[in-house]
Amino acid sequence: NGAVRVNMSNVDSPLQIFVRAKKKINDIFVEIDDYVKDAVTFMHAVTGENGIATPQDLANVEAYVSKVQAIREVLKRDHMKVAFFGRTSNGKSTVINAMLHDKILPSGIGHTTNCFLQVEGSDTDESFLRTEGSEEKLNVQSVSQLGHALCATRLQECSLVHVYWPRELCALLRDDVVLVDSPGVDVTPNLDEWIDKYCLDADVFVLVANAESTLMVTEKNFFHKVSTKISQPNIFILNNRWDASASEPEYLDQVRTQHANRCVDFLSRELRVCSPKEAEERIFFISAKEALLTRMREREKPVSSPILAEGHQVRYFEFVDFERKFEECISKSAVRTKFAQHSRRGKNIAAEVMAALEQIYNTASDQKAAKVEKQRILHEQLSAIEEQLTTITRQMKDKINRMVESVEHKVSLTLSQ
Ligand code: GDP
Repeated sequence: NGAVRVNMSNVDSPLQIFVRAKKKINDIFVEIDDYVKDAVTFMHAVTGENGIATPQDLANVEAYVSKVQAIREVLKRDHMKVAFFGRTSNGKSTVINAMLHDKILPSGIGHTTNCFLQVEGSDTDESFLRTEGSEEKLNVQSVSQLGHALCATRLQECSLVHVYWPRELCALLRDDVVLVDSPGVDVTPNLDEWIDKYCLDADVFVLVANAESTLMVTEKNFFHKVSTKISQPNIFILNNRWDASASEPEYLDQVRTQHANRCVDFLSRELRVCSPKEAEERIFFISAKEALLTRMREREKPVSSPILAEGHQVRYFEFVDFERKFEECISKSAVRTKFAQHSRRGKNIAAEVMAALEQIYNTASDQKAAKVEKQRILHEQLSAIEEQLTTITRQMKDKINRMVESVEHKVSLTLSQ
């Protein structure tokens, strides 16, 4: 579709922490898979008539094959998930597009996302939509088409629409980041349901706030709920539309300090998800619209309104700084939450299969010892018989000798008469 491929190298990206860990744990599970299959082959050889293992022993070891397979399937699908929240029109879709270096999600007034949009990598060159619970793929080539498709599909509020986009077009998607855009927190009161359905496995939350106003109660409430359900959620706050500050440069520092203090206070004292110092590293003043424009230009995509407001470079650097801190946070968090569990399971499986093999080994050893003992007893019995035979033969010999002597004696007596 004529799209520009991302060929920038991202070996330095902090996302590689996750990418490398995923590769490593996948390799380990390939080995565990081989090990379990070898164990099954061995068990087959020692089960059956006169065998040492029972069919139940064999079935127990065989069950690990599907367990390992299931974990490998989950591992393949494991990703890093970031969810964006904030009031409608704060710029959530624009932030996501800027991070993906392309206009993927429709943004602006007219597009009402009362559903969740989950952007993830597609392994083919196609881009398509799929609603949760349906197998039907809806091909999309462009943003406007995506907008139309979203309107055309009769979506229930609070439903999830997967947007698959070719991995090769976006570095984030290639590295297994999944981005979730939400309906504005002001649109629906079903915050609890949202959190349970779409957020419990999110590694990072991004609150897209409007730098032209203060944090709203609805925005704060949402995160209060999140922090009751998830222990220590990773939250970033983007004060978007910071380009508006260019028109009032005399108040810039003052407004920024005020916003920053309120955000630090919210994260550290109200939510208690981090210390004030850590909170300072989680708050950014950006312009998603400018960042997207800059990136579209870099990729030589046609864009309108080429004039950017004073200070756009500084805002762009801050956006890049946000991305780096975000990448570091999400990859570390995902490795911890996702892979720690898999590696524990892997260790347990290896130990359990080993215990099963050990048991077979012990049974075999016991049987061997029993056979040796049987032979020893048999040997003893034979020796006793041998001894008895020797005694009997000796006695017989004596008896015969004596008989012969007596006969000889009797004969000589008879002869001498
Ligand atoms: P959402 O409803 O939170 O997803 O918001 P959108 O991303 O759809 O943005 C709503 C409108 O705000 C769009 O017209 C955007 O172009 C505009 N917008 C987004 N970010 C910025 C920004 O940083 N500065 C300015 N001036 N406008 C922005």
